[in-house]
Amino acid sequence: MTLFEQVKECVTARQAAEHYGIKVKRNGMACCPFHKDRHPSMKADKIYHCFACGVGGDAIDFTARLFGLSQYEAAKKLVEDFGLDIKVGNRSKYERTPRNRAPLKQKQSKVVMIREKLEQWLKYATDVLIRYLKWIQFWKEFYRPESDEEWHELFTEALANERKINDYLDVLMFGTGEEIVELFKMKRKEVERIEERINEYQREVIDGIRSYCERGDAYNRRCQ
Ligand SMILES: [Zn+2]
Repeated sequence: MTLFEQVKECVTARQAAEHYGIKVKRNGMACCPFHKDRHPSMKADKIYHCFACGVGGDAIDFTARLFGLSQYEAAKKLVEDFGLDIKVGNRSKYERTPRNRAPLKQKQSKVVMIREKLEQWLKYATDVLIRYLKWIQFWKEFYRPESDEEWHELFTEALANERKINDYLDVLMFGTGEEIVELFKMKRKEVERIEERINEYQREVIDGIRSYCERGDAYNRRCQ
């Protein structure tokens, strides 16, 4: 077994989190130390995962992230801090040599870039879908037909999409990192179309209000 495997056998992400001062509730939930988290959104067990910012991994990953260490340094820290009976072998095997340090850093910053881009999209998509869902709920009430009446197209649109939009929002708000990535891949274009759809609708509403007000003005002027 490698050093990493041995350490993971001995220490769970939850134990590491608790050891380093994170309060984990009985149900395994904790406030995530990797983003501004006021309500516990991180689940810590054998591995950990934050439902809000999407980070996750094993005890070594947790420790590396928490202290800004390499995986090797984090594994070694866990061996020391937990007093594990694991022989930390040939250091040079894991250590980054100056030669391979540069590409590793580049790789890391690319990962950070992708993560930032995904977080941006997560915020954008959640915002767009919540706006759409609010209109859907409004249309469902406002255009609710009488029994024999023909359905208004916006009422139909609301019924056709409500469930789907709720499903997307479930993934965005409570899904795992992989599920969010999957949604990003599959539905990015659709979210953009939905944004255009609502913007167009809101313009129509505003134009409608404007022309209504102008008609009112003309009427008032005639009466003066
Ligand atoms: Zn988080």
